[in-house]
Amino acid sequence: MKWKPILRTMKAYTPGRSIEDIKRTYDLQEVHKLASNENPYGSSPEVAEYLRSKAAQFEMYPDAYTAGLRGKLAEFHQIDPNEILFGNGSDEIVSIISRAILQPGTNTVMASTTFPQYAHNAKIEGAELREVAMLESGDHDLEGFLKVADEETAVIWVCNPNNPTGNLLSSESIKSFLDQVPETALVVLDEAYIEFVTDPAQQDTIQWIHDYTNLIILRTFSKAYGLASFRIGYGVANASIVSELNKVRNPFNNSSLALAVAEVALADQQFLQACVTKNDEERKRFVDYAKQHALAIYPSATNFVLIAVPGDADVACEVLLQNGYIVRSGNLLGTPGFVRVTIGTHEQNTGFFKAFDQLLTNQ
Ligand SMILES: *Cc1c(COP(=O)(O)O)cnc(C)c1O
Repeated sequence: MKWKPILRTMKAYTPGRSIEDIKRTYDLQEVHKLASNENPYGSSPEVAEYLRSKAAQFEMYPDAYTAGLRGKLAEFHQIDPNEILFGNGSDEIVSIISRAILQPGTNTVMASTTFPQYAHNAKIEGAELREVAMLESGDHDLEGFLKVADEETAVIWVCNPNNPTGNLLSSESIKSFLDQVPETALVVLDEAYIEFVTDPAQQDTIQWIHDYTNLIILRTFSKAYGLASFRIGYGVANASIVSELNKVRNPFNNSSLALAVAEVALADQQFLQACVTKNDEERKRFVDYAKQHALAIYPSATNFVLIAVPGDADVACEVLLQNGYIVRSGNLLGTPGFVRVTIGTHEQNTGFFKAFDQLLTNQ
């Protein structure tokens, strides 16, 4: 068959191991998955209530215009409904953007250590990758981005806060970058974790789409809203970008149930705020733990931390697994010597620190 040759060099996404699998393999009663940055507090109780009492009409195709959630989000963000593009998770928006814009002869700019789906999709579309080494701090090197961007640059990926480091770029530095970047390049500002940011200097980036006609901002219900299984992500951009990208989007790419549930979750900002507050407190414990044990840790603005481990990261992951904690090895993320840990509930984190203590004493 006539596969794209690039596929020979690529691998399918490696999922983290499941809780059930680890329980069986290590004969454990309790296993905590702190590997995929899901919300340890679940989702709004209103969602469960909705699913119990109101969910219906499964024989009908979903509303292709997603009017319900679209209207609510437009109101929430103070934008026009036509400035929103929905994806089956923001993962799908990354793929829609790549399909619509990237092709052989174009190039695409991103950080060396960032969300792997940007490079993955770009490779499939045959675009040249220009990966700019992250700064020692873990920040994107935006100056470096500007140096490698040229007339053939089609898409620039800015992940803020960044996965897997958790680093937050200042709003001012991103704006200054947008002022200098070639207008022919689409800048994708992936804000999958923005709800967790508590830095008072953080601006409401959504309104920037009215100042920059080459900007799309990605948001998701998978992380802070705790709805990863429902696959709802969205992009916000000026209406002309949205209408081009819509040509590439599959119709009915969000299920009715998922759309309805996202509406319910959006309405419960109190739940979201409570999660953010708890996450903030728990994140401080990770920072303190790292400090206490002289372990390097990146400055996270998210619900995960990238923390140094003694020895090889895969070996550390194995020891943590034996203790019932699933985390992501830095060897998979381009950050050897580190593991990425989702910040759990208070009890989960206490247990995690105990497991980590074992790593330190076994050195
Ligand atoms: C998790 C994540 C996404 C994808 O989320 P979806 O579940 O597809 O909405 C996108 N970008 C980053 C940086 C992520 O960490």
